[in-house]
Parts: sequence; C-alpha cells; structure tokens
Amino acid sequence: MEIRKKLIYQFIGIVALILLLSSTAIYFSFSGTRREEFYDRLSSKAKMVAQMLIEIDEIDAELLKRIEKNNPVSLPNEKIIIFDYQDSTVYSTDDDQSLDISHELINEVRLTDEVRLTQKPFEILGQFYTGQYDRFVVFAAATDIFGLGKLKRLRIILLIVFSVSLVVVFFSGRIFASRALKPISDIMSQVDAIGVSNLDARVSEGNGKDELARLAQTFNKMLERLEIAFKTQKNFIANASHELRTPLTVITGQLDVILLNARNNEEYRKTIISVLEDIKNLNNISDRLLLLAQASSEFSEADFNIIRIDDILWQARKELLKRHDNYQININFSETIDDESKLKVNGNAQLLKIALNNLIDNGCKYSGDYTSEIIVNNKNNHVIMNFSDKGIGISEEELKMIFQPFYRARNAIGTKGHGIGLSLVEKIIMLHKGNITVKSEIMKGSNFTLSLPLSF
Ligand code: ADP
Repeated sequence: MEIRKKLIYQFIGIVALILLLSSTAIYFSFSGTRREEFYDRLSSKAKMVAQMLIEIDEIDAELLKRIEKNNPVSLPNEKIIIFDYQDSTVYSTDDDQSLDISHELINEVRLTDEVRLTQKPFEILGQFYTGQYDRFVVFAAATDIFGLGKLKRLRIILLIVFSVSLVVVFFSGRIFASRALKPISDIMSQVDAIGVSNLDARVSEGNGKDELARLAQTFNKMLERLEIAFKTQKNFIANASHELRTPLTVITGQLDVILLNARNNEEYRKTIISVLEDIKNLNNISDRLLLLAQASSEFSEADFNIIRIDDILWQARKELLKRHDNYQININFSETIDDESKLKVNGNAQLLKIALNNLIDNGCKYSGDYTSEIIVNNKNNHVIMNFSDKGIGISEEELKMIFQPFYRARNAIGTKGHGIGLSLVEKIIMLHKGNITVKSEIMKGSNFTLSLPLSF
C-alpha cells in the first residue's frame, strides 16, 4: 500500500477512535443522568401517593385517584400501584393492566427495599413503604418521553458529528499527506533522472534541516561515492590497459626489428631472453590485477585460518632474498611479543604474504642501501608491524595517492614497478579488518605501519 494511503487510513483510524470514545462517554453519562433523575421523580411520586393514602385517614383510594387524575404535575403515562402485606392491591391507577407485577417482584422489593426495572415503554420503581400499622409495596411507573427524546437527539447529533468529522479528516488527511510526501516524490523524480551520463548531478537538499533534507544529503553522499567509484573504475581500466600495452608494444618492436634482417644465433638468443623478460613482466602485472579484483570480491572469512604472522614474515623474507641477493631484510620482535599467541591472526596466508612481500620489497627497492627494517610489536590486541627504510621517501602531497591503483610517485619513475602493489596491500589489510598508515619524508625514508587484529 502507498505510504500516502497508509497515512490517511491511520489518521482516520485514530480520529475515529477518539471520536468514538468521546461520543460513547458523552452518551452514556447523559443516559445515566437521565435515568437517575427520572427514578428520583418516580420515587418522590411513589412516596407522595403512599403517604397521602396511608397516613391521611380522610383520603381513600377513590378520592386519591380523582385527585391524581387532575394533578397537573403527573408524569407521562404514569401508573401507581400499592400492595399491602398480603399482596392485595390497595390502590392502582393501572386501569388497563399494562404493568406486569408478579408476587416474586413484590417480595423482591420487600427484601431489597428498592427495585428498578423496565417494561417497555415503562420504567418502573418498586419501593417498600412502612406505615404506622402496616407495610406496603409501592410501584410507580411512567415513560420518560422528554428524557428519551433528548437522548435520541443526542444520539443523532453525535452520529452526524462523527460522520462529518470522518469526511473532513479524510479530505484534509489527503491534502496533508500529499503535501508531506511531495518532497519525497520530488527526490524520486530527481534521482530517476540521474544516470551514468550525469553522475555529477545532485538532488536538491530543501531547507537543509529536516529529515527529508537529510535523506537528500544521504543520497547526494551516495552519488558522490558512486561518481568517485565510477571514475576510479574508468581510470583503472585505462591504466590497466596502458600497463599491459606497454610491454606488448616493446615485445612487438623487438620482434619486428629482429625480423628485418637475418641474424646470428646470439642475437636471436638475446632477443628471445629480452622478450621472455617482458612476457614475465606482463604475467606479473596480470596476476596482480587479477588478485586486486579477487581481493575485493572472492576472498571471504571462509578462506581464513589461524596463522602465525612471524611465519609469513620469514617466508616473505626468504622469497625476496632468493630473487634479490642484494636486499637486506632485518626482522626484530619487541619485548611485548612474549608468547606465540601475540603473533596469531585469523587470515589468509597467501594474501598476507603478498602484502608483506610488497611492503618489504618497496622498502628495499626504493632505498640506496636496499635495506628494510621490520619491527613486530603488540598493542591493544593487535599485532603491529613497522616497515621502515632510509630510501627516497614520498612527498607529503603524494602520500595520499600512493594507495590508488597505478599511482607512482614522481621520484619512483627510475625504479621498476607498476603502482599496483600498495593498492593490493590496502585491500588485503582491509579484508583482514586491519589498518595501514604511512609516514615519509623525501630523501629520509618511509615508515609503513600495519596493524592486524589478533585471533583468540
Ligand atoms: P610500485 O612500487 O610497483 O610502483 P606500489 O603500489 O607498491 O607500486 O607503490 C606505489 C608508489 O608508492 C610507488 O610507485 C612509490 O612511488 C611509492 N612508494 C611505495 N613504497 C615506497 C617506499 N618504501 N619508499 C618510497 N616510495 C614508496
């Protein structure tokens, strides 16, 4: 159901309930008061007639009947019946016997002093009356024509007020709901109009204060993220194809040149070796690109095991030294690492090795002494690894960018690399719910700090 309709129905429901409760309360309180007043009048009438008949000797039943007939203050449809202790009627104005008074009813009055009952169209009051020599039961009955008429009128008025209010609430609710929801439909149509071609468009933020403005702001923030992600994606594809094309162009050039003339074996060998080198390079790039894509989507905690981070560090060191015998890689453990549980993390060994390998490799290749210093520490249930070097460093404005895929700082151009490593490292660390920060100063060196949560 549409929110607009839901709002209207809820609004009508609440108003109807309030009206119903208040109307019922008014109706019943009025009806109760009417009843009490009418029985009061019946009671005084009954007392008066009984007193006159029983206590004034000069008045007998016949005389009283005549007096009562001409009484201008008698009640509408009034009937009075008086019974003595033997249940014989001593006085009755109920000539047409409209009232049905049984012996049980008379006895009930004797027992309880007063009985109230209704025999349509009469309301009847039975009262016990004690005279000087005898005891009587007096029944006074009448129809409250005025009271019941007033009650009926009240019922009609309440019903009209109820119905008219509901109609008013329905129409005002519709206007109200449409007005309240208009900004939402505005936002919807604005969002509808945003596509790939105009991702820079934004939703209007209204007065900037209410909930809808906050919704628009949230949308705009999401659009901003989408725009950045979209641009990054576009750049990524452009950069990736550039990185792959460069070695391919080099390979094609080398092969074209060698084919121009007949060559001796040595020249062919040299070209093949060089082409092979380029192909390995190409392979390396495509492997890393693949990993970069996988690290964000294909790996999950299901591929994680409890592993010792020092094992991974030693393995990474060993592999790097095998490929570069000029590298110096020093691993040190602080005193805070006093037992092996402070080295255990929940992670993927293959991915973590790639990340650590990259940080150590960068430290060595970007410093004149090819040295990377690693200190392993422990803090707040995290294993902290510090990778420092005394190399070329990174300028402050470029520090923010080095984690972007394919970004290479200006001073790194002379060193081999493709700018994929650190973005891969960041993705892997994020996947492990860890954190990576960097501090660096040009020509003084860099310091990468990596923290990973310990497993318990
Ligand atoms: P690559 O090293 O292949 O270029 P990375 O993604 O590993 O790619 O690094 C991105 C850039 O960050 C590098 O090109 C370099 O400019 C800078 N960088 C990374 N590590 C260091 C370091 N230890 N010292 C100086 N610069 C570094």
